[in-house]
Amino acid sequence: MKKRYQSTRNEDVLATSSEAILTGMSPDGGLFVLKDIPRYMTSSEKLMDKNYQQLAIDVLTLFLEDFTLEQIEYCVNKAYTDTFSDEKVTPLKKVGEHYILELFHGPTSAFKDIALALLPRLMETSLTIQKRSETLLILTATSGDTGKAALEGFKDNPLVKLIVFYPDQGVSNIQKLQMETQEGLNVRVTAIDGHFDDAQTAVKTLFNDEDLKQHLNQVGIQLSSANSINIGRLIPQIVYYLDAYRQLLVNHDIQVDELVDFIVPTGNFGDILAGYYAKQLGLPIRKLVCASNQNHVLTDFLSTGCYDSRRQFYKTSSPSMDILISSNLERLLFYASGQDEPYVKKCMETLATTGQFTVNQKVLTNIQQDFACGYVTDQEVLETIGEVYKEHHYLLDPHTAVAYRVMKERGDELVKQVVLATASPYKFLETVAKGIQMKNPAEDPFRLMLQLEEKTNTQAPSSLKELQKKPVRFSDCLDKAYIKDYVVQQVKELTK
Ligand SMILES: *Cc1c(COP(=O)(O)O)cnc(C)c1O
Repeated sequence: MKKRYQSTRNEDVLATSSEAILTGMSPDGGLFVLKDIPRYMTSSEKLMDKNYQQLAIDVLTLFLEDFTLEQIEYCVNKAYTDTFSDEKVTPLKKVGEHYILELFHGPTSAFKDIALALLPRLMETSLTIQKRSETLLILTATSGDTGKAALEGFKDNPLVKLIVFYPDQGVSNIQKLQMETQEGLNVRVTAIDGHFDDAQTAVKTLFNDEDLKQHLNQVGIQLSSANSINIGRLIPQIVYYLDAYRQLLVNHDIQVDELVDFIVPTGNFGDILAGYYAKQLGLPIRKLVCASNQNHVLTDFLSTGCYDSRRQFYKTSSPSMDILISSNLERLLFYASGQDEPYVKKCMETLATTGQFTVNQKVLTNIQQDFACGYVTDQEVLETIGEVYKEHHYLLDPHTAVAYRVMKERGDELVKQVVLATASPYKFLETVAKGIQMKNPAEDPFRLMLQLEEKTNTQAPSSLKELQKKPVRFSDCLDKAYIKDYVVQQVKELTK
Protein backbone atom coordinates (compact mmCIF):
# COMPACT_ATOMS: atom_id res chain seq x y z
CA MET A 1 0.00 0.00 0.00
CA LYS A 2 1.17 3.51 -0.81
CA LYS A 3 2.38 5.31 2.31
CA ARG A 4 0.69 8.68 2.55
CA TYR A 5 2.42 10.10 5.61
CA GLN A 6 5.91 11.51 5.69
CA SER A 7 8.20 13.31 8.14
CA THR A 8 8.10 17.11 8.23
CA ARG A 9 11.90 16.99 8.06
CA ASN A 10 12.60 14.34 5.43
CA GLU A 11 10.46 13.25 2.48
CA ASP A 12 12.06 9.80 2.47
CA VAL A 13 10.80 8.91 5.94
CA LEU A 14 7.38 7.45 5.14
CA ALA A 15 4.58 5.75 7.04
CA THR A 16 1.07 4.48 6.57
CA SER A 17 -1.56 5.94 8.87
CA SER A 18 -1.51 2.90 11.19
CA GLU A 19 2.29 3.06 11.48
CA ALA A 20 2.15 6.79 12.25
CA ILE A 21 -0.52 6.25 14.92
CA LEU A 22 1.47 3.53 16.67
CA THR A 23 4.83 5.32 16.72
CA GLY A 24 3.45 8.78 17.50
CA MET A 25 6.51 10.62 16.27
CA SER A 26 8.69 10.18 13.19
CA PRO A 27 12.02 8.45 13.99
CA ASP A 28 14.03 11.40 12.61
CA GLY A 29 12.60 13.78 15.20
CA GLY A 30 10.05 15.29 12.80
CA LEU A 31 6.27 14.90 12.88
CA PHE A 32 4.20 12.86 10.49
CA VAL A 33 2.19 14.89 7.97
CA LEU A 34 -0.07 14.05 5.07
CA LYS A 35 1.60 15.06 1.82
CA ASP A 36 -1.55 15.67 -0.19
CA ILE A 37 -4.51 16.87 1.81
CA PRO A 38 -7.57 15.68 -0.08
CA ARG A 39 -10.48 17.98 -0.88
CA TYR A 40 -13.68 16.87 0.84
CA MET A 41 -16.17 19.34 -0.55
CA THR A 42 -16.69 21.85 -3.28
CA SER A 43 -19.88 23.11 -1.66
CA SER A 44 -20.71 23.19 2.05
CA GLU A 45 -24.21 22.01 1.18
CA LYS A 46 -22.73 18.54 1.39
CA LEU A 47 -22.59 18.85 5.20
CA MET A 48 -26.28 19.49 5.73
CA ASP A 49 -27.70 15.99 5.90
CA LYS A 50 -24.98 14.41 8.08
CA ASN A 51 -24.59 14.01 11.80
CA TYR A 52 -21.42 14.13 13.92
CA GLN A 53 -20.69 10.42 13.56
CA GLN A 54 -21.14 10.46 9.80
CA LEU A 55 -18.83 13.44 9.44
CA ALA A 56 -16.26 11.64 11.60
CA ILE A 57 -16.47 8.57 9.36
CA ASP A 58 -16.01 10.73 6.25
CA VAL A 59 -12.98 12.56 7.68
CA LEU A 60 -11.29 9.40 8.94
CA THR A 61 -11.82 7.74 5.59
CA LEU A 62 -9.94 10.59 3.91
CA PHE A 63 -7.00 10.44 6.31
CA LEU A 64 -6.58 6.77 7.27
CA GLU A 65 -5.70 5.04 4.03
CA ASP A 66 -4.99 1.60 5.46
CA PHE A 67 -8.14 1.30 7.60
CA THR A 68 -11.22 -0.37 6.09
CA LEU A 69 -14.59 1.37 6.20
CA GLU A 70 -15.82 -1.27 8.67
CA GLN A 71 -12.86 -0.55 10.98
CA ILE A 72 -13.50 3.18 10.82
CA GLU A 73 -17.20 2.78 11.53
CA TYR A 74 -16.41 0.54 14.48
CA CYS A 75 -13.94 3.09 15.92
CA VAL A 76 -16.29 6.05 15.52
CA ASN A 77 -19.34 4.31 16.93
CA LYS A 78 -17.43 3.03 19.94
CA ALA A 79 -15.98 6.47 20.62
CA TYR A 80 -19.07 8.66 20.33
CA THR A 81 -22.03 6.50 21.30
CA ASP A 82 -23.10 7.17 24.91
CA THR A 83 -19.78 8.70 25.97
CA PHE A 84 -20.75 12.37 25.57
CA SER A 85 -23.45 13.91 27.71
CA ASP A 86 -24.86 15.90 24.78
CA GLU A 87 -26.23 13.86 21.90
CA LYS A 88 -24.84 16.41 19.44
CA VAL A 89 -21.36 15.65 20.85
CA THR A 90 -20.22 19.28 20.26
CA PRO A 91 -23.28 21.57 20.45
CA LEU A 92 -23.07 25.12 19.10
CA LYS A 93 -24.58 27.83 21.32
CA LYS A 94 -25.54 31.35 20.31
CA VAL A 95 -24.33 33.90 22.84
CA GLY A 96 -25.32 37.44 21.87
CA GLU A 97 -24.20 37.99 18.29
CA HIS A 98 -21.57 35.27 18.46
CA TYR A 99 -21.31 31.49 18.59
CA ILE A 100 -19.66 29.21 21.10
CA LEU A 101 -18.78 25.65 20.12
CA GLU A 102 -18.92 23.57 23.32
CA LEU A 103 -16.24 20.90 23.15
CA PHE A 104 -16.42 19.87 26.81
CA HIS A 105 -19.28 17.38 27.09
CA GLY A 106 -17.05 14.30 27.24
CA PRO A 107 -16.13 12.16 30.27
CA THR A 108 -13.48 14.57 31.66
CA SER A 109 -15.11 17.91 30.71
CA ALA A 110 -12.37 19.19 28.39
CA PHE A 111 -12.00 19.14 24.61
CA LYS A 112 -9.20 16.55 24.77
CA ASP A 113 -11.94 13.93 25.22
CA ILE A 114 -12.99 14.25 21.60
CA ALA A 115 -9.70 12.88 20.35
CA LEU A 116 -8.93 10.64 23.31
CA ALA A 117 -12.24 8.83 23.11
CA LEU A 118 -11.19 7.76 19.61
CA LEU A 119 -7.41 7.32 19.87
CA PRO A 120 -7.54 4.03 21.85
CA ARG A 121 -9.77 2.52 19.16
CA LEU A 122 -7.43 3.78 16.43
CA MET A 123 -4.45 2.26 18.25
CA GLU A 124 -6.10 -1.14 18.74
CA THR A 125 -7.05 -1.22 15.08
CA SER A 126 -3.55 -0.14 14.04
CA LEU A 127 -2.09 -3.07 16.02
CA THR A 128 -4.44 -5.41 14.12
CA ILE A 129 -3.53 -3.87 10.76
CA GLN A 130 0.18 -4.16 11.52
CA LYS A 131 -0.30 -7.71 12.89
CA ARG A 132 1.56 -6.77 16.04
CA SER A 133 1.21 -8.39 19.43
CA GLU A 134 3.20 -6.12 21.75
CA THR A 135 1.66 -4.31 24.66
CA LEU A 136 1.79 -0.53 24.29
CA LEU A 137 3.15 1.57 27.13
CA ILE A 138 1.90 5.12 26.83
CA LEU A 139 3.75 7.77 28.82
CA THR A 140 2.05 11.13 29.00
CA ALA A 141 3.08 14.42 30.54
CA THR A 142 0.05 16.62 31.10
CA SER A 143 -0.67 20.18 32.08
CA GLY A 144 -4.00 18.89 33.38
CA ASP A 145 -6.48 17.92 30.69
CA THR A 146 -4.66 15.52 28.35
CA GLY A 147 -3.68 13.18 31.18
CA LYS A 148 -7.17 12.73 32.53
CA ALA A 149 -8.71 12.34 29.08
CA ALA A 150 -6.09 9.70 28.20
CA LEU A 151 -6.73 7.88 31.50
CA GLU A 152 -10.46 7.69 30.81
CA GLY A 153 -9.88 6.69 27.19
CA PHE A 154 -7.42 3.89 27.95
CA LYS A 155 -8.52 2.60 31.37
CA ASP A 156 -8.76 -1.22 31.48
CA ASN A 157 -7.76 -1.50 27.83
CA PRO A 158 -6.12 -4.97 27.61
CA LEU A 159 -3.55 -3.87 25.01
CA VAL A 160 -2.26 -0.77 26.77
CA LYS A 161 -0.53 0.34 29.98
CA LEU A 162 -0.60 4.04 30.74
CA ILE A 163 1.45 6.21 33.09
CA VAL A 164 0.58 9.90 33.50
CA PHE A 165 2.81 12.59 35.00
CA TYR A 166 1.35 15.93 36.03
CA PRO A 167 3.04 18.93 37.60
CA ASP A 168 2.50 19.18 41.32
CA GLN A 169 2.27 22.95 40.90
CA GLY A 170 -0.07 24.20 38.23
CA VAL A 171 -3.24 22.14 37.94
CA SER A 172 -6.58 23.17 39.43
CA ASN A 173 -8.00 21.42 42.53
CA ILE A 174 -10.55 19.61 40.42
CA GLN A 175 -7.95 18.52 37.88
CA LYS A 176 -5.79 17.13 40.70
CA LEU A 177 -8.72 15.22 42.19
CA GLN A 178 -9.61 13.82 38.78
CA MET A 179 -6.14 12.31 38.60
CA GLU A 180 -5.82 11.12 42.17
CA THR A 181 -9.07 9.17 42.02
CA GLN A 182 -8.55 7.57 38.61
CA GLU A 183 -9.84 4.01 38.20
CA GLY A 184 -8.45 1.22 36.03
CA LEU A 185 -6.03 -1.64 36.67
CA ASN A 186 -3.71 -0.75 33.77
CA VAL A 187 -2.96 2.85 34.77
CA ARG A 188 -0.64 4.74 37.10
CA VAL A 189 -0.61 8.45 37.88
CA THR A 190 1.95 10.51 39.73
CA ALA A 191 2.63 14.16 40.40
CA ILE A 192 6.10 15.43 39.56
CA ASP A 193 7.70 18.20 41.56
CA GLY A 194 7.85 21.34 39.41
CA HIS A 195 6.00 22.80 36.43
CA PHE A 196 4.64 21.29 33.21
CA ASP A 197 7.90 21.87 31.35
CA ASP A 198 9.74 19.76 33.97
CA ALA A 199 7.27 16.90 33.52
CA GLN A 200 7.41 17.21 29.74
CA THR A 201 11.22 17.26 29.60
CA ALA A 202 11.50 14.29 31.95
CA VAL A 203 9.13 12.25 29.79
CA LYS A 204 10.92 13.25 26.58
CA THR A 205 14.22 11.94 27.95
CA LEU A 206 12.54 8.57 28.54
CA PHE A 207 11.49 8.39 24.89
CA ASN A 208 15.13 8.84 23.88
CA ASP A 209 16.50 6.35 26.44
CA GLU A 210 17.78 3.34 24.46
CA ASP A 211 18.50 1.34 27.59
CA LEU A 212 14.91 1.72 28.75
CA LYS A 213 13.52 0.85 25.31
CA GLN A 214 15.60 -2.33 25.21
CA HIS A 215 14.50 -3.31 28.66
CA LEU A 216 10.86 -2.81 27.63
CA ASN A 217 11.29 -4.72 24.37
CA GLN A 218 12.53 -7.72 26.30
CA VAL A 219 9.22 -7.89 28.13
CA GLY A 220 7.19 -7.34 24.92
CA ILE A 221 6.38 -3.66 25.41
CA GLN A 222 6.58 -0.76 22.98
CA LEU A 223 6.55 2.91 23.98
CA SER A 224 3.93 5.15 22.45
CA SER A 225 2.51 8.64 22.84
CA ALA A 226 -0.95 10.10 23.34
CA ASN A 227 0.15 13.73 22.95
CA SER A 228 -1.02 15.88 20.07
CA ILE A 229 2.11 15.15 18.05
CA ASN A 230 0.29 11.88 17.23
CA ILE A 231 -1.82 12.20 14.06
CA GLY A 232 -4.38 10.00 15.82
CA ARG A 233 -4.99 12.93 18.17
CA LEU A 234 -5.13 15.53 15.45
CA ILE A 235 -7.47 13.98 12.88
CA PRO A 236 -10.51 13.51 15.19
CA GLN A 237 -10.38 17.25 15.94
CA ILE A 238 -11.01 18.21 12.31
CA VAL A 239 -14.54 16.85 12.60
CA TYR A 240 -15.98 19.46 14.96
CA TYR A 241 -15.02 22.34 12.67
CA LEU A 242 -17.14 20.75 9.95
CA ASP A 243 -19.90 19.98 12.41
CA ALA A 244 -19.95 23.55 13.78
CA TYR A 245 -20.41 24.84 10.25
CA ARG A 246 -23.13 22.26 9.65
CA GLN A 247 -24.99 23.48 12.74
CA LEU A 248 -24.76 27.09 11.53
CA LEU A 249 -26.23 26.03 8.19
CA VAL A 250 -29.00 23.91 9.63
CA ASN A 251 -30.02 26.73 12.01
CA HIS A 252 -30.07 29.18 9.06
CA ASP A 253 -27.46 31.35 10.75
CA ILE A 254 -25.37 31.40 7.57
CA GLN A 255 -25.85 30.85 3.84
CA VAL A 256 -24.24 27.97 1.99
CA ASP A 257 -20.50 28.69 1.55
CA GLU A 258 -20.54 31.86 3.69
CA LEU A 259 -17.14 32.51 5.26
CA VAL A 260 -16.72 32.27 9.07
CA ASP A 261 -13.88 32.83 11.56
CA PHE A 262 -12.92 30.38 14.31
CA ILE A 263 -11.24 31.69 17.46
CA VAL A 264 -9.17 29.00 19.17
CA PRO A 265 -7.59 29.08 22.65
CA THR A 266 -4.15 27.72 21.80
CA GLY A 267 -1.26 25.96 23.56
CA ASN A 268 0.44 23.22 21.58
CA PHE A 269 -1.21 24.38 18.31
CA GLY A 270 -3.02 21.04 17.85
CA ASP A 271 -6.60 22.26 18.01
CA ILE A 272 -6.08 25.18 15.63
CA LEU A 273 -4.04 23.06 13.21
CA ALA A 274 -7.05 20.75 12.91
CA GLY A 275 -8.94 23.87 11.79
CA TYR A 276 -6.28 24.46 9.15
CA TYR A 277 -6.85 20.92 7.86
CA ALA A 278 -10.61 21.59 7.82
CA LYS A 279 -9.95 24.64 5.66
CA GLN A 280 -7.82 22.57 3.26
CA LEU A 281 -10.68 20.07 3.00
CA GLY A 282 -12.77 22.91 1.59
CA LEU A 283 -14.56 24.32 4.66
CA PRO A 284 -15.28 28.06 4.10
CA ILE A 285 -13.08 29.47 6.85
CA ARG A 286 -11.81 33.02 6.47
CA LYS A 287 -9.42 33.23 9.44
CA LEU A 288 -8.29 30.91 12.19
CA VAL A 289 -7.62 33.19 15.14
CA CYS A 290 -4.93 31.96 17.51
CA ALA A 291 -5.73 33.17 21.05
CA SER A 292 -3.01 33.12 23.71
CA ASN A 293 -2.60 34.10 27.36
CA GLN A 294 0.39 35.91 28.83
CA ASN A 295 2.69 33.23 27.38
CA HIS A 296 2.14 34.81 23.97
CA VAL A 297 5.02 33.33 22.02
CA LEU A 298 2.58 32.42 19.20
CA THR A 299 1.06 35.92 18.95
CA ASP A 300 4.56 37.30 18.48
CA PHE A 301 5.44 34.65 15.90
CA LEU A 302 2.28 35.10 13.87
CA SER A 303 2.73 38.88 13.79
CA THR A 304 6.50 39.08 13.16
CA GLY A 305 7.72 35.70 11.89
CA CYS A 306 10.15 35.43 14.80
CA TYR A 307 9.55 32.55 17.22
CA ASP A 308 11.43 33.29 20.41
CA SER A 309 11.00 30.94 23.37
CA ARG A 310 13.70 32.70 25.42
CA ARG A 311 11.33 34.53 27.69
CA GLN A 312 9.82 34.35 31.11
CA PHE A 313 7.28 31.60 31.70
CA TYR A 314 4.06 32.69 33.43
CA LYS A 315 1.71 30.50 35.43
CA THR A 316 -1.72 31.80 34.38
CA SER A 317 -5.37 31.03 35.10
CA SER A 318 -5.52 29.13 31.78
CA PRO A 319 -2.85 26.50 32.58
CA SER A 320 -3.47 24.29 29.52
CA MET A 321 -2.11 27.15 27.39
CA ASP A 322 0.99 27.76 29.52
CA ILE A 323 3.40 26.51 26.88
CA LEU A 324 6.46 28.06 25.26
CA ILE A 325 7.35 25.28 22.80
CA SER A 326 4.32 24.72 20.63
CA SER A 327 4.98 21.35 18.98
CA ASN A 328 2.43 21.33 16.18
CA LEU A 329 3.65 24.60 14.69
CA GLU A 330 6.22 22.44 12.89
CA ARG A 331 3.41 20.97 10.81
CA LEU A 332 2.20 24.41 9.75
CA LEU A 333 5.75 25.36 8.75
CA PHE A 334 5.83 22.30 6.53
CA TYR A 335 2.76 23.40 4.59
CA ALA A 336 3.45 27.15 4.64
CA SER A 337 6.97 26.63 3.27
CA GLY A 338 5.57 24.71 0.30
CA GLN A 339 6.60 21.34 1.83
CA ASP A 340 10.25 22.33 2.05
CA GLU A 341 11.63 19.66 4.42
CA PRO A 342 15.21 20.98 4.65
CA TYR A 343 13.82 24.40 5.55
CA VAL A 344 11.62 22.99 8.34
CA LYS A 345 14.54 20.95 9.63
CA LYS A 346 16.75 24.02 9.75
CA CYS A 347 14.14 26.08 11.65
CA MET A 348 13.58 23.30 14.20
CA GLU A 349 17.27 22.71 14.74
CA THR A 350 17.85 26.43 15.22
CA LEU A 351 15.02 26.45 17.76
CA ALA A 352 16.53 23.50 19.62
CA THR A 353 20.03 25.00 19.78
CA THR A 354 19.31 28.73 20.18
CA GLY A 355 15.74 28.90 21.52
CA GLN A 356 14.48 30.92 18.53
CA PHE A 357 14.10 31.02 14.75
CA THR A 358 12.72 33.43 12.15
CA VAL A 359 10.85 32.46 8.99
CA ASN A 360 11.27 34.27 5.68
CA GLN A 361 8.72 36.76 4.36
CA LYS A 362 7.15 34.32 1.92
CA VAL A 363 6.39 31.79 4.64
CA LEU A 364 5.08 34.50 6.96
CA THR A 365 2.78 35.88 4.25
CA ASN A 366 1.42 32.40 3.59
CA ILE A 367 0.73 31.87 7.27
CA GLN A 368 -0.93 35.27 7.69
CA GLN A 369 -3.36 34.48 4.90
CA ASP A 370 -4.97 31.82 7.07
CA PHE A 371 -4.17 32.93 10.63
CA ALA A 372 -4.79 35.94 12.84
CA CYS A 373 -3.86 36.24 16.51
CA GLY A 374 -4.14 38.04 19.83
CA TYR A 375 -3.45 37.59 23.55
CA VAL A 376 -4.95 38.64 26.87
CA THR A 377 -3.90 38.95 30.52
CA ASP A 378 -5.34 37.12 33.54
CA GLN A 379 -7.01 40.34 34.66
CA GLU A 380 -8.79 40.58 31.31
CA VAL A 381 -9.84 36.93 31.65
CA LEU A 382 -11.57 37.72 34.96
CA GLU A 383 -13.28 40.78 33.47
CA THR A 384 -14.45 38.78 30.48
CA ILE A 385 -15.90 35.95 32.59
CA GLY A 386 -17.77 38.61 34.61
CA GLU A 387 -19.05 40.58 31.62
CA VAL A 388 -20.25 37.60 29.60
CA TYR A 389 -22.02 36.20 32.62
CA LYS A 390 -23.68 39.52 33.34
CA GLU A 391 -24.70 40.22 29.77
CA HIS A 392 -25.60 36.76 28.50
CA HIS A 393 -25.87 34.56 31.58
CA TYR A 394 -23.24 32.31 30.03
CA LEU A 395 -20.31 30.92 32.03
CA LEU A 396 -16.92 30.83 30.33
CA ASP A 397 -14.00 28.79 31.59
CA PRO A 398 -10.71 30.77 31.67
CA HIS A 399 -9.37 29.22 28.42
CA THR A 400 -12.55 30.00 26.53
CA ALA A 401 -12.53 33.49 28.06
CA VAL A 402 -9.10 34.09 26.50
CA ALA A 403 -10.54 33.34 23.05
CA TYR A 404 -13.72 35.32 23.65
CA ARG A 405 -11.73 38.37 24.67
CA VAL A 406 -9.45 38.12 21.65
CA MET A 407 -12.54 37.99 19.44
CA LYS A 408 -13.99 41.09 21.13
CA GLU A 409 -10.76 43.03 20.80
CA ARG A 410 -10.51 42.24 17.10
CA GLY A 411 -14.01 43.66 16.82
CA ASP A 412 -14.59 42.04 13.46
CA GLU A 413 -18.25 42.14 12.51
CA LEU A 414 -17.88 41.26 8.84
CA VAL A 415 -18.21 37.52 9.21
CA LYS A 416 -19.73 35.24 11.84
CA GLN A 417 -17.41 34.45 14.74
CA VAL A 418 -17.22 31.00 16.35
CA VAL A 419 -15.33 30.67 19.64
CA LEU A 420 -14.12 27.19 20.60
CA ALA A 421 -14.99 26.43 24.26
CA THR A 422 -12.33 23.99 25.41
CA ALA A 423 -13.25 23.26 29.04
CA SER A 424 -16.19 23.29 31.41
CA PRO A 425 -16.20 26.28 33.79
CA TYR A 426 -16.63 23.75 36.60
CA LYS A 427 -13.06 22.55 36.11
CA PHE A 428 -11.71 25.98 37.08
CA LEU A 429 -13.99 26.92 39.95
CA GLU A 430 -11.82 29.47 41.76
CA THR A 431 -11.17 31.60 38.69
CA VAL A 432 -14.78 31.45 37.52
CA ALA A 433 -16.11 32.33 41.00
CA LYS A 434 -13.73 35.28 41.13
CA GLY A 435 -14.72 36.37 37.62
CA ILE A 436 -18.41 36.57 38.48
CA GLN A 437 -17.53 38.16 41.84
CA MET A 438 -19.18 35.52 43.95
CA LYS A 439 -19.55 36.51 47.61
CA ASN A 440 -17.83 34.29 50.21
CA PRO A 441 -16.60 31.52 47.92
CA ALA A 442 -15.98 28.29 49.83
CA GLU A 443 -12.48 26.87 49.96
CA ASP A 444 -13.63 23.29 49.58
CA PRO A 445 -14.03 22.61 45.84
CA PHE A 446 -17.27 20.66 46.21
CA ARG A 447 -18.90 23.33 48.33
CA LEU A 448 -17.76 25.88 45.80
CA MET A 449 -19.27 23.76 43.04
CA LEU A 450 -22.64 23.81 44.83
CA GLN A 451 -22.41 27.55 45.38
CA LEU A 452 -21.71 28.10 41.69
CA GLU A 453 -24.64 25.91 40.68
CA GLU A 454 -26.99 27.78 42.99
CA LYS A 455 -25.82 31.23 42.09
CA THR A 456 -25.80 30.74 38.32
CA ASN A 457 -28.60 28.21 38.01
CA THR A 458 -26.36 25.95 35.92
CA GLN A 459 -25.33 22.34 36.47
CA ALA A 460 -21.90 20.91 37.15
CA PRO A 461 -21.01 17.87 35.01
CA SER A 462 -21.96 14.75 36.97
CA SER A 463 -18.51 13.21 36.53
CA LEU A 464 -17.01 16.16 38.42
CA LYS A 465 -19.58 16.00 41.21
CA GLU A 466 -18.97 12.30 41.66
CA LEU A 467 -15.28 12.86 42.35
CA GLN A 468 -16.25 13.70 45.89
CA LYS A 469 -17.23 10.09 46.58
CA LYS A 470 -14.22 8.46 45.00
CA PRO A 471 -11.28 7.20 47.06
CA VAL A 472 -7.84 8.67 46.38
CA ARG A 473 -5.67 6.00 44.71
CA PHE A 474 -2.63 8.01 43.63
CA SER A 475 -1.08 10.59 45.91
CA ASP A 476 2.65 10.22 45.17
CA CYS A 477 4.81 13.15 44.24
CA LEU A 478 7.93 12.08 42.40
CA ASP A 479 11.33 13.76 42.26
CA LYS A 480 11.97 13.97 38.51
CA ALA A 481 15.46 12.53 38.91
CA TYR A 482 13.81 9.17 39.68
CA ILE A 483 11.36 9.04 36.80
CA LYS A 484 13.08 6.14 35.01
CA ASP A 485 13.26 3.97 38.15
CA TYR A 486 9.62 4.76 38.71
CA VAL A 487 8.63 3.65 35.21
CA VAL A 488 10.60 0.39 35.45
CA GLN A 489 9.04 -0.39 38.83
CA GLN A 490 5.49 0.42 37.71
CA VAL A 491 5.85 -1.62 34.51
CA LYS A 492 6.89 -4.59 36.63
CA GLU A 493 3.73 -4.26 38.72
CA LEU A 494 1.44 -3.51 35.78
CA THR A 495 2.60 -6.60 33.88
CA LYS A 496 2.50 -9.02 36.82
C1 LIG B 1 -5.14 21.52 25.66
C2 LIG B 1 -6.02 22.68 25.90
C3 LIG B 1 -5.92 23.85 25.12
C4 LIG B 1 -4.85 24.04 24.06
O1 LIG B 1 -5.02 23.18 22.95
P1 LIG B 1 -3.80 22.91 21.95
O2 LIG B 1 -4.27 21.86 21.03
O3 LIG B 1 -2.66 22.42 22.82
O4 LIG B 1 -3.46 24.19 21.29
C5 LIG B 1 -6.82 24.88 25.37
N1 LIG B 1 -7.76 24.79 26.34
C6 LIG B 1 -7.88 23.68 27.11
C7 LIG B 1 -8.92 23.65 28.17
C8 LIG B 1 -7.03 22.58 26.91
O5 LIG B 1 -7.15 21.49 27.68
